[in-house]
Amino acid sequence: SRATLFDAENKVKITFSDVAGLDEAKEEIKEIVDYLKSADKFKKLGAKIPKGALLIGPPGTGKTLLAKAVAGEAGVPFFSLSGSDFVEMFVGVGAARVRDLFKQAKEKAPCIIFIDEIDAIGRSRGRGAMPGANDERENTLNSLLVEMDGFATDSGIIILAATNRPDVLDSALLRPGRFDRQISVDKPDVIGREAIFRVHLKPLSLNEDVDVQKLAVQTPGFAGAEIANVCNEAALIAARRNRDSVTMQDFQDAMDRVIGGLEKKNKLISPEE
Ligand code: ATP
Repeated sequence: SRATLFDAENKVKITFSDVAGLDEAKEEIKEIVDYLKSADKFKKLGAKIPKGALLIGPPGTGKTLLAKAVAGEAGVPFFSLSGSDFVEMFVGVGAARVRDLFKQAKEKAPCIIFIDEIDAIGRSRGRGAMPGANDERENTLNSLLVEMDGFATDSGIIILAATNRPDVLDSALLRPGRFDRQISVDKPDVIGREAIFRVHLKPLSLNEDVDVQKLAVQTPGFAGAEIANVCNEAALIAARRNRDSVTMQDFQDAMDRVIGGLEKKNKLISPEE
């Protein structure tokens, strides 16, 4: 059905206060909020507003969250689709979907278009992993390039895309006038993890023995998504134990569980061991 072609959110509630750490990325992406809110200021001076920015970083580090926060801060609609949805698609469907997306976005401008896992569409042409699926992927990529070139820089549409594989992207995507801005969204250091914990601890009823700094120290290598996961897992464990607040012990057990899950996932990825 048409409803599944892509997602559209008219009223985004997420703002920068939901995004912890990532100070540099936030600073860079704030410019885009400004472009969306005060396009006239730029137009008057003859400045060309960038069409797109690429958010680069490992899974779960907050790329989607950051893109949504831009829409939330600017008060504009958020259109999104995921590159991986295009992998198995009938001939012509991917390209048609992209055209449809831009058509609707133009009607709703100013707005954000977010393309998650753009590497699934935007792999450099002629080196895709899946034989047969390639032609259709290339059609989709070509239609994306055509659409990006086809709207004026002052049309109020800004395209954000996320990837953890910038190395495989077709260089055509990175040309000026397309995704000419790159913003890195890295895994958090201990200070960043503490800030992310604080965001996700807020809704929980915490026992007074919970030590946020300790939690941050004990979770090296965790991305924001895993920290969010630990916090919810700890609350679930506490509920199962019929506690009226979440204790440090619940967090310890939640961390063990999340680490266990990560190890299992890594084993599946690298069978030599
Ligand atoms: P993927 O590449 O897997 O799509 P992503 O980088 O887009 O991942 P998000 O989907 O934005 O990651 O993050 C998943 C969830 O993890 C968020 O909804 C949020 O709950 C939490 N999270 C991730 N990073 C942060 C952060 N910096 N601050 C607060 N929460 C975060």
